[in-house]
Amino acid sequence: MNTLHQQVGKKRRKLKKRYFLLLIFLLVLSGTVLFVGTSYSFREVPSTPDQPVTKPAPTETPPSTDQPEPITPPEESSPEPEIFPTIESDETETPTEEETEISSEGPTETPAEENTEPPVEEEKPEKVVYLTFDDGPSKWTEQFLDVLAAHDAKATFFMQGSNLKKEHLQESVKRATQEGHYIGGHSMTHNYQALYTNQQFVPEMIETLDLIHKITGTTPSLVRPPYGSAPGLNGGQIRKQLADAHIKIWDWTIDSHDWELPGNPSQIVQNIKRDTTSDKEIVLMHEKSQTLEALPEVLNFFKDQGYVFGVYNDASHFVMNFQNDAAL
Ligand SMILES: [Zn+2]
Repeated sequence: MNTLHQQVGKKRRKLKKRYFLLLIFLLVLSGTVLFVGTSYSFREVPSTPDQPVTKPAPTETPPSTDQPEPITPPEESSPEPEIFPTIESDETETPTEEETEISSEGPTETPAEENTEPPVEEEKPEKVVYLTFDDGPSKWTEQFLDVLAAHDAKATFFMQGSNLKKEHLQESVKRATQEGHYIGGHSMTHNYQALYTNQQFVPEMIETLDLIHKITGTTPSLVRPPYGSAPGLNGGQIRKQLADAHIKIWDWTIDSHDWELPGNPSQIVQNIKRDTTSDKEIVLMHEKSQTLEALPEVLNFFKDQGYVFGVYNDASHFVMNFQNDAAL
């Protein structure tokens, strides 16, 4: 009996020992799993380790250690995807320098590449040439528009009231507007005496701009003074009237002298090439047949020189007049 009791007692003690050792083993195991888990989370997220450290403390659930431990790591790994997006969003704001550091992480590669490309294009200094054609509309207007369209170039036309009144030319004026060109005013009479000596400049320009509005529906505010603003506008009176009427004027930076070169388009091209010196040029030309002949070479020249063909825009006016009048 005694021996039996003793044997049973030994077995029970052995079993208790085994259970005790198993418990300790499981506790140690859970402890290491927790430690490894928290140390990872410390590396990645300085802000969130509070939760993993306090939550799965061994005091709460020692018997059921096996199951909760595998569950907790996914909880710790889940913040990772939340963290990376915040880093990404920071980088989209300042894309240039940090690119190499982030690329090792993987998920940020594609946005970083996309962000770096556009700024390079924007950094390029833009050379702009504004081609301007005076005295139209004319029988040549359609062909000017054809050549410009073939070269995907926009231009600024300064049209004269006496020509705008010709109904058979008005379709060309509409077409020019529809194809993205700007139509500005160039007076009704083009007469020096009337415009400057008799000071009809502003009334004539208002009438011309109204005519353009009736034909095209646009509301232009830019005019080109016939013969240029000097000497015609040397006195301040007309310029004050222009400012009061919110009318702007544009002269030019390059005079092609095309009007006095009939039959000599190559000289027109040479004149333009010779005087092209700046990143922003305004070229004075007219609706003449020799100008039409020279136009493809003029367009190719500016393209080869890296110029963009600008078209005047009332919203982004810049001052370009021989009077250096900042109000115009
Ligand atoms: Zn003119």
